[in-house]
Amino acid sequence: MTPFIKKSLKAFGFLVLILISIELIHFSILATPQKMFSYSLDLGRLKIYSDIHISLDLIQKIIDADERVSQSELYDSSLYANIFICSDPSLYAIFPILTGMSTISSGLTITVVNNVFLNLTRINLLESGSHLRISYSHLNGDFSQILAHELTHQLITDKIGFWEARKFPRWKAEGYCEYNSTIAKIRKDSSYNFAERCSDYFDYGLYGVNKHSKFYYKSQLMVEYLFEVEGISFTEFSSQKINSNNTYTSLKKWYERMIENEKQQ
Ligand SMILES: [Zn+2]
Repeated sequence: MTPFIKKSLKAFGFLVLILISIELIHFSILATPQKMFSYSLDLGRLKIYSDIHISLDLIQKIIDADERVSQSELYDSSLYANIFICSDPSLYAIFPILTGMSTISSGLTITVVNNVFLNLTRINLLESGSHLRISYSHLNGDFSQILAHELTHQLITDKIGFWEARKFPRWKAEGYCEYNSTIAKIRKDSSYNFAERCSDYFDYGLYGVNKHSKFYYKSQLMVEYLFEVEGISFTEFSSQKINSNNTYTSLKKWYERMIENEKQQ
């Protein structure tokens, strides 16, 4: 081996070591960020950390989120989660930046360590932007729904495993999280009409809503259709037989039949 090759290998090894060290530092921040939060509260299976005082109102919203999630067929009472509430957007931004995700998000979950991060400023901003209000959508800035959505990501991973969850089609993952975070409330809402909700998408194209949010809404409709109209189980849902194109076509056909029936009445 020439001195040049020896030197190059040494430099390469050093570079790999630096990259591994950076990754380890990133992971340790994502896995154990507790020290960055001044307030904490133990709610049993949920451990809460926050950069602002944890008010009674916030506690009630967390309990509401837990109740929504506990009604899922995937729920397991032995599961736990650490919830990190960031009122400072620059504190929240650290976590999506480290995972390569957008900082303009309401929340994110690091399922491998059961950590949920919530962007409280963004959630409150969505809540005050009532011009985009669409019932049972993440666009409402409903804290409980957004937390329940993130906790559902955890449930999916615990059910199908980390690697399978990584391969899970995005429409299924986000759609199921949106569905699971709202369905308990929807079932208690006597004025709720699923066909009307479909109409917002098919007939009005969710006017004023961006592409990203439309994807969430469409995925939620498809998942709600599969579970509530077709009555499938999560095992069937997670199989490859259920795909996006077929589900969308079935949902659209069902919606058109509903409209036709309405016209004939
Ligand atoms: Zn999500």
